[in-house]
Amino acid sequence: MNASTHAENAANDIAAHLHPFTNLATHPQLGPLVIQRGDGIFVEDDQGRRYLEAMSGLWCASLGFSNARLAKAGSEALHGLPYYHTFNGRSNPAAIALAEKLLALAPVPMSKVFFANSGSEANDSAVKLVWYYHNAIGKPEKKKIIARRNAYHGVTVAAASLSGLVPNHRDFDLPIDRILHVDCPHHFRYAEAGESEEDFATRLAAALEQRILDEGPGTVGAFIAEPVMGAGGVLVPPATYFDKVQKVLAKYEVLLIADEVICGFGRTGQMFGSATFGLRPDILTAAKALSSGYVPISAVMVSEKVHAAVAANSGKIGTFGHGFTYSGHPVACAIALETLKVYEDENILAHVQSLVPQFQQGLQAHAARRYVGEVRGVGLIGAIELYADPARRTPFDPAQKAGARLAELALAQGLIVRAMGDSIAFCPPLIITAEQVDDMFARFGRAMAIFEESFA
Ligand code: PMP
Repeated sequence: MNASTHAENAANDIAAHLHPFTNLATHPQLGPLVIQRGDGIFVEDDQGRRYLEAMSGLWCASLGFSNARLAKAGSEALHGLPYYHTFNGRSNPAAIALAEKLLALAPVPMSKVFFANSGSEANDSAVKLVWYYHNAIGKPEKKKIIARRNAYHGVTVAAASLSGLVPNHRDFDLPIDRILHVDCPHHFRYAEAGESEEDFATRLAAALEQRILDEGPGTVGAFIAEPVMGAGGVLVPPATYFDKVQKVLAKYEVLLIADEVICGFGRTGQMFGSATFGLRPDILTAAKALSSGYVPISAVMVSEKVHAAVAANSGKIGTFGHGFTYSGHPVACAIALETLKVYEDENILAHVQSLVPQFQQGLQAHAARRYVGEVRGVGLIGAIELYADPARRTPFDPAQKAGARLAELALAQGLIVRAMGDSIAFCPPLIITAEQVDDMFARFGRAMAIFEESFA
């Protein structure tokens, strides 16, 4: 498409579109990047420029941007049953099959699946389930939910409250009460001098226990965690962190919610991050790669312990008073079901595992560069964190916008990465090939060289 079309797109976007997670004050000057098609792991803008999409969009397009099987499944579903709901005992074959499939894949035994449309809705639903559950079992005081600083769980009122990032709270009058935050397991940044990962994990678990005791164990209902913290900077926990945390949770009968919205469906090298990091959740939320991002859909899996109490209580009131118009949407469920079949048919887990060493080495190859402080990752997700002086661990002055600058330079090399502060994230489609992994890091290396020169 030609430049005049882009100019029109830009003007119309600026005039009409309120963008999420965008600086709305500068957007009218900077304008949009308009993506209009995709093929494989590449997307193309409205000026014909191609980009290797190393973030799978927003950590979701695991099968890339042109999977024909998903398009066909969606089209057939639209022609068959374009809409029906699941309230009042209604169901549809796609929702049933998807629920069964998810239970079969679950990292721990799960009893039932509730469907929603986004990660935020899934996490809001999880919060409500925790509250409802504790009312149902006669522990109405046990309602506080502990999340972690730097967590990202979404933007609806409860999910944004669970998130531990300043922009999600500031000036939105959040978090709501009964939601608390404890420290996150980022060893490089928060460990004391000389503290091993093991000791750091022990300290965090002890601090969690102290917080539960301070609040009163009878008031704490759940702990929520992403196995790997995504939007907070791709923070990979120490190996024994979840083990230690779960011992504390078990001691005080605190439920565990695993937010698998990013980690789910192969990202960490196993089907769920819970398997990779040893989480045994009572409630598990998933979205994103559930449909490869092709349609909005999310899922909340609940254990039989939770389900039995919730079901019994709903019997007393006459209904479980929660659900969305689009819960179990037949088109979304058909596409999600096909996505899970593609993962199986293409043996995506084996493919991911075969690429992990190359991907992680590709990240580590940048560890010694002038402005790189830490490289972290697991499976096919990782981040490179920039520091002004890595040896002294001096961060860049935020006014320098180092991360955003590097991401811009990458864009000019035809590479889409994401800057989260000064951490640059990589989360490519799981279908990426070995050659494309090399191509991705080659593009990044060129951007990094220009970034380094700009400070010389
Ligand atoms: N949880 C996690 C771990 C996420 O990364 C996200 C989205 N980035 C969400 C929840 C929220 O999902 P959504 O944007 O679909 O509401």
